[in-house]
Amino acid sequence: MSTGLLYREISKTKSEKAVKIAVSQGDGIGPEIMQATLNILQAAGANIEPEFIDLGQKVYLAGNSAGIDSEAWDIIKRNKVILKAPISTPQGKGYKSLNVTLRKSLGLFANVRPVAALDPFISTGHRNMDVVIIRENEEDLYAGIEHQQTSDVVQCLKLITRPGCERIIRYAFEYARVYRRKKVTCMLKDNIMKLTDGLFHRVFDEIAQEYPEIKSETQIIDIGAAKLAANPENYDVVVTSNLYGDIISDIVAEIAGSVGLAGSANIGREAAMFEAIHGSAPDIAGFNIANPSGLINAAVMMLAHIGQNEIADKVRNAWLATIEDGYHTADIFKEGRSKKCVNTQEFADEVIRRLGDVPRVLEVSHLGNGTGKIRMKEYQRPKMHKSLVGTDVFLDWQGSDPNELGSKLANLDTPGIKLKMITNRGVKVYPGGMDQTYCTDHWRCRFVSREANTSTSGLSYPGISYLQVLSLLTKLVIDGYDIIKTENLYEFDGQPAFSLGQGE
Ligand code: NAD
Repeated sequence: MSTGLLYREISKTKSEKAVKIAVSQGDGIGPEIMQATLNILQAAGANIEPEFIDLGQKVYLAGNSAGIDSEAWDIIKRNKVILKAPISTPQGKGYKSLNVTLRKSLGLFANVRPVAALDPFISTGHRNMDVVIIRENEEDLYAGIEHQQTSDVVQCLKLITRPGCERIIRYAFEYARVYRRKKVTCMLKDNIMKLTDGLFHRVFDEIAQEYPEIKSETQIIDIGAAKLAANPENYDVVVTSNLYGDIISDIVAEIAGSVGLAGSANIGREAAMFEAIHGSAPDIAGFNIANPSGLINAAVMMLAHIGQNEIADKVRNAWLATIEDGYHTADIFKEGRSKKCVNTQEFADEVIRRLGDVPRVLEVSHLGNGTGKIRMKEYQRPKMHKSLVGTDVFLDWQGSDPNELGSKLANLDTPGIKLKMITNRGVKVYPGGMDQTYCTDHWRCRFVSREANTSTSGLSYPGISYLQVLSLLTKLVIDGYDIIKTENLYEFDGQPAFSLGQGE
């Protein structure tokens, strides 16, 4: 298995000077597993200089709702590499997720989680699994744009961008090329979300053509996740968007044996952050029994990232040898198979004792051999012709009969535009809705230009001006309607760029 990461600017940093790393000890079990990890790195001769920063609980409780202060930001911006133990996010509104803040502020677009079985030393039903989940880290529903619009309805915007898709998908193929992986599987739900997940799919197909030596396939996320959980050995590299990736990467870690084992890398153009995939485990904090392996594996990825491949291999191989020799923390200890149940610090001591050893059965780590560099392209925004052809006006309307609303709006005197349909929760309710459809107080009223054309590519509309939209909105306000928001309807290069209502 290859666990290392490369990214062009930072991977060149192979200087003699110690590399300064921002280190956060985190909350809960964080300080225990970080101490164990740093002891190993020091004993292995890692050429790093940790600069400690406070993140998480302590900062939140001091009144900083972001969980990070300006001093920590300064160190992170200077060093550009972070080794982070898990932090606890306080419950309740008003606290921002620090992980999301760090990923987005630093442009850490790729979340990389390699997970491999350690059979027969750690029990798993999937002895041949060796899969890397590459998850988009900044967009999708995690853009964090949410609103309450009516008494009944809240919304969360799912934002998928072409540069975001290109970056993560190219990164996945580059990762596969550099680490000689054979297949990249893309998981999404474009049978339902034809524009957002559809874009991800299209970009995947485009970029896959540039890597003919790597097999590529696409799966719908629901069946894909089920197959991944049942037969992970059939997968190699999986690339997906933020939410799906969040879910499947935990599934994969869990079925490999323990959430305590896997590390992850958050990679950006200039900065990178390395952490265990698990949380701060407050239930076992302070007992010195946590498994430090996730953070150790994250530190291995960090060493590879900063060009210290040989030390990365030394740590990884000593860790594999420790697992093979049966020195296991409580979460992976099994009577008859493990040799000794060790605590956090004892586990680290066993790894230190084996520095220079290689595993006898498990695959030896060879990051030092080097397989090339990850190459990314600058984004070129495509030039497209954009034409405004209508608008969706969302109303908070307290009535219950769609036909009443529909006939009032259809009779509005709005030059150039007319009501085409009304949907409620995406289902067409006017004209010709079904009595059984449940309606909330949230009505999408679609207005389009009056003169539609039917061409070979389907229905298309002549352009309208935004002044016509404004005059429609003015009329609606004068008539007493409560407009929640509008979404303009565009055609790009003559193709409608909006979804149809269900039943439209
Ligand atoms: P968790 O991962 O902390 O714990 C889940 C279970 O796994 C617990 O039973 C725990 O004891 C066990 N576990 C986790 N890591 C272990 C290890 N290294 N060794 C042995 N057992 C381990 O998840 P949770 O309980 O849902 O979350 C606890 C806190 O962690 C929350 O505040 C959450 O917000 C935070 N969290 C932080 C991060 C992060 O900083 N990256 C990630 C996830 C959760």
